[in-house]
Amino acid sequence: MSNSKKLGLTSKIFIGMILGLLIGGALRLGFPESQFIDGYITNGVMNVVGSVFINALKMLVVPLVFISLVCGTCSLSDPASLGRLGGKTIIFYMVTTAIAISLAIFAAVVIHPGNGSMHVEHLEYAAKTAPSLSQVFIDMVPTNPLKAMAEGKMLQIIIFAVVFGLAISHLGERGKRISALFDDLNEVIMKVVTLVMQLAPYGIFALITKLALTLDSEAFESVLYYFLVVLGALLVHGLIIYPILLKLFTNLSPLTFLAKLRDVQLFAFSTASSNATLPVTVETAEHRLGVSNKVASFTLPLGATINMDGTAIMQGVATVFIAQVFAIDLTLTDYLTVIVTATLASIGTAGVPGVGLVMLAMVLNQVGLPVEGIALIIGVDRLLDMVRTAVNVTGDSAITVIVARSENEFDESKFNDPDAGKLKGNLTEQVNAE
Ligand code: ASP
Repeated sequence: MSNSKKLGLTSKIFIGMILGLLIGGALRLGFPESQFIDGYITNGVMNVVGSVFINALKMLVVPLVFISLVCGTCSLSDPASLGRLGGKTIIFYMVTTAIAISLAIFAAVVIHPGNGSMHVEHLEYAAKTAPSLSQVFIDMVPTNPLKAMAEGKMLQIIIFAVVFGLAISHLGERGKRISALFDDLNEVIMKVVTLVMQLAPYGIFALITKLALTLDSEAFESVLYYFLVVLGALLVHGLIIYPILLKLFTNLSPLTFLAKLRDVQLFAFSTASSNATLPVTVETAEHRLGVSNKVASFTLPLGATINMDGTAIMQGVATVFIAQVFAIDLTLTDYLTVIVTATLASIGTAGVPGVGLVMLAMVLNQVGLPVEGIALIIGVDRLLDMVRTAVNVTGDSAITVIVARSENEFDESKFNDPDAGKLKGNLTEQVNAE
């Protein structure tokens, strides 16, 4: 067997990223403003390959969430345990988001990345409206589950799948037949997930090449400090706070956790979407981290939708930064308002690229800061979106492990086995693997 066949998926993805960076960077330097590169490479081949990869991942999200969640709830005959699981998960998600944003505000106040000498006269930013909190609650219940699926409304799909699964669990013999069917369907969809994951090295290569060709490098100069503060807070949260929480609540090794999560983080980084990464997050939680389907199928889709700690960090730093640039003093009540609004705002917005800025507009409005300030940071948001999405999925996975462990829905030997669920980097091997 040749060496290239022996490479694992993660190594192949890394190679794809580095090649993308090098080739994209070289083309950018070698052929600046070339129409050919722009038309045929950036918006041609790279765009097609990258978009096909992201579409293939998104294609799996709705069937995966529905089937896997029905499977998970089928085995729950007692709704009270679902209530406990849900309550625990939501509290963990909210508390970690509040920690994240407090850390971000603290860092931004101490480091003070913004100054009043920046040019703010000609800023323009048209804010999209974020949904109100009451509307978010009303919208949780679908009027038409098929429409919810067609539109990918995650919270609505979750509610319908849970009710559907609970009904199956109460139907005795007939319920068992349907439940067995969903178990088989779940196996099928997970198999498709592992197959689509094999496209990742090529898809990610294309996405990173395109990024290297299009990233607005000048935008970084004026807001470099803002960029560095967000990046620093994201790294602290992802690499220090989650590992501490994991150790504290489960006594499991944070290093094993982070090592096993590498693929998920790479997918999140390249796609900038927690939703598109969801199939990989679920597959990793169940097959590599040892979380049961019952817990993973519930906590992860919920997390991709309502838990966005990385996004909250960006919002915390951005709010303080914009206040500093416009020389507006924020009071303690303002900071608390930012923490509460940003934590709640994350519930109503799905994990897709750039949604953090929509939520930021809502937070700024709440404390009376000018929404046009977003125009200052939009140029560097692309790269930060990628990093914060990786933090978002790390948070979803960490809380999932903590909740699974506390519910005895966790296989520790799988967690500790370095080879458990490891994907081969080769399509044929993967197809043949049982
Ligand atoms: N892209 C992020 C996610 O999907 C959301 C955001 O911060 O814009 O998790």
